[in-house]
Amino acid sequence: TVCTRFAPSPTGYLHIGGVRTALYSWLHARRLKGRFVLRIEDTDLERSTPEATAAILEGMEWLGLHWDAGPFYQTQRMDRYREVLAQMLAAGSAYYCYCSKEELEAMREEQRARKEKPRYDGRCRTRHEPRPGVQPVVRFRSPDRGETVVEDLIHGTVRFQNAELDDLIIARADGTPTYNFCVVVDDWDMGITHVIRGDDHLNNTPRQMQILQALGATPPVYAHVPMILGPDKQKLSKRHGAVSVLEYREEGYLPEALLNFLLRLGWAHGDQEVFSIAEMIDLFRIEEVHRAASAFNPEKLLWLNAQHIQALTAAELAERLRPYLLREGIDAACLQAGPDLEAVVLALRERAKTLVEMARGALFFYRAPTEAVTADRDKHLRGRAELLQKAAALLGELPSWDATSLHDALQSLAAAESEGKLGKIAQPLRVAVAGCAVSPPLDQTLAILGREESLARLRRALA
Ligand code: GLU
Repeated sequence: TVCTRFAPSPTGYLHIGGVRTALYSWLHARRLKGRFVLRIEDTDLERSTPEATAAILEGMEWLGLHWDAGPFYQTQRMDRYREVLAQMLAAGSAYYCYCSKEELEAMREEQRARKEKPRYDGRCRTRHEPRPGVQPVVRFRSPDRGETVVEDLIHGTVRFQNAELDDLIIARADGTPTYNFCVVVDDWDMGITHVIRGDDHLNNTPRQMQILQALGATPPVYAHVPMILGPDKQKLSKRHGAVSVLEYREEGYLPEALLNFLLRLGWAHGDQEVFSIAEMIDLFRIEEVHRAASAFNPEKLLWLNAQHIQALTAAELAERLRPYLLREGIDAACLQAGPDLEAVVLALRERAKTLVEMARGALFFYRAPTEAVTADRDKHLRGRAELLQKAAALLGELPSWDATSLHDALQSLAAAESEGKLGKIAQPLRVAVAGCAVSPPLDQTLAILGREESLARLRRALA
């Protein structure tokens, strides 16, 4: 069965470029009813941190990229790497190298003098006696002739001349295995059939294939995904905005919108822009990923987020909004005491592009506007006391407090006060009840706020 993996190094936040390869791996496994493995490549002890690992797990969970096995940690697999090293040494596909720094430097000097590319010449392949006091490294005995051919699902056929690839160090003098070796043993042990990763790893691939072949394993299928560029076509980095997945959660993006966005960066299905998770699984084909790097477009992400917000039911959206409301100080008790959250969400859904925006837009329904918002107050309420009074009187007598009745009442007020121009009276009323000049349509806003609260706020604005 198909088995893919995501193998991040926990050296920083979970980068959205990494997430895109995780998504592609996950989709590939899901469509083919295979398995998706999470592996934490934490052998770089200097740069790996538990916080980074936690952020990776949290990010993956938030995105809903559930893994079927793992997380496996390379630091917990050292015994296994040593076992395979011993096996290769015994079989002669690896050997001890006792060359000192000075000897290697002298070798490279000579090669440079001969205008050759510096490479390890394999001199320890036949050196059998240990050197006293020297801790050897272990090198892989790589094939000298022929070529290693990567049939990449995205890049097509990529050929590497074996003569160009020297004998790679697979264990350091202190006995610790090196990066490429760990990856090989892991992919082998974990039964990985498809390696989907960033194309910065393409040059590691022939070496990894050679080691797998030496172990008698069939190399997996490879797909090297191009990187993501910033809008200025430079490598995507912090100066382009958020690159950490959890930052997007903070900013109020839906995970499915972020996934949709990453999916479309470098892959297309006709001119379809919006994909549900089910459609992504159904339609994505790794071999259709574009070879060229694609540029990040923040406006597109924002637009997709709005699309996915509108695709949710009011109940789902209310659920998703709760944590963001809590951050603004609106807890369960506040929600209980105020209008129905689903009604609020329905009123705000059309315009909000992020959950943060929506939570801020929902605030005034649960918390009466304070004097803090004085800019709008001064601008819209000065000299409008009479209008507010009339509105309070008119609305106070409405037999039924619903959007239609409110709409009619506001129309008649506009007819009497501003030649039928609703905007002229709506703005001061809106500022009086909402505290700011932006809200859903006034009749809807008043209907949701309720009679008592609406009239109380109108009167308070008069005071
Ligand atoms: N740990 C590597 C990285 O984060 C991934 C290596 C791989 O996928 O083979 O770039």
